[in-house]
Amino acid sequence: MANFALAVHGGAGTIRKTETTLDQEEEYRRSILAALETGRKILAGGGTALDAVEACVVVLEDDPLFNAGRGSVFTHEGKIEMDAAIMDGKRLKAGAIAAVRNVKNPIRLARKVMEESPHIFLLGDGADRFAEEVGVDLCDSTYFFTERRWNELENAIAAGKVKLDHSPLDPRVGSKPLGTVGAVALDSSGCLAAATSTGGMTNKKFGRVGDTPIIGAGTYADDLSAVSCTGHGEFFILGVAAYDVSAQMRYKNETLAAATAKTIGRIGHIGGEGGLIAVDSKGNIAMPFNSEGMYRGYVTSAEAPVALIYC
Ligand code: ASP
Repeated sequence: MANFALAVHGGAGTIRKTETTLDQEEEYRRSILAALETGRKILAGGGTALDAVEACVVVLEDDPLFNAGRGSVFTHEGKIEMDAAIMDGKRLKAGAIAAVRNVKNPIRLARKVMEESPHIFLLGDGADRFAEEVGVDLCDSTYFFTERRWNELENAIAAGKVKLDHSPLDPRVGSKPLGTVGAVALDSSGCLAAATSTGGMTNKKFGRVGDTPIIGAGTYADDLSAVSCTGHGEFFILGVAAYDVSAQMRYKNETLAAATAKTIGRIGHIGGEGGLIAVDSKGNIAMPFNSEGMYRGYVTSAEAPVALIYC
């Protein structure tokens, strides 16, 4: 049994292997390994799963390669609207925010909601006001502007599509595959935690919010498992995906591997594309997906870090 275990993801989707160069793959692997190393240090030093997942997600939010924080995709109106959630499986406490516009690290704000408010889920202007009150770092819109994201929006509008981050609308655009980020961890005192952060889907309209900040859909942790999802959020909401893993383990005594495989199977069955990362109270890790790839990696007290993209 591992004394600690940690997994991170950088999004799932139709990442076509044929459209990715070895250099690009290497860039993603390096970013995933950097996030893992940040979390590993915390866990190896006796830190909490909660601190580890928050720190891993901050690293990935600051990395423009991923669709979260700095690299977030644009809404139809050309704005940034970010969603995030964090959950402490030991205390069964959670914090979530949606549609925030100028918070540098949305996962830090979600943690503040959990620790410093009587609520679980804050939205839009209210969440932005809370961010000012609790003093998290704020940025103006230029921090979040990347030309690649802007081009993706223009292409999505021209195609009339709301685009999951990785799905290429037009291979000629040559945009790199990027994604939502998440982390799950078990710490040396047996506590589990999960965190997920996203810019959502390119060209989303009308204040659309996906699964990421919805506790039980995109993010969940309790005493049995911690889960962070990525993919077409509407289907992960319909499948109550993250909680579905825990429910199978609690009520059917399923293993983590069996429960997560069934959850992703069901998401596929109802039409959803994506994947999840999960860890259980024994340090087992599962990372199933039904897309062509999912940026992901793991490290445990017994194993060196591994970063993976395709099967
Ligand atoms: N699940 C996210 C959403 O639907 C997107 C993603 O994982 O790439 O907002």
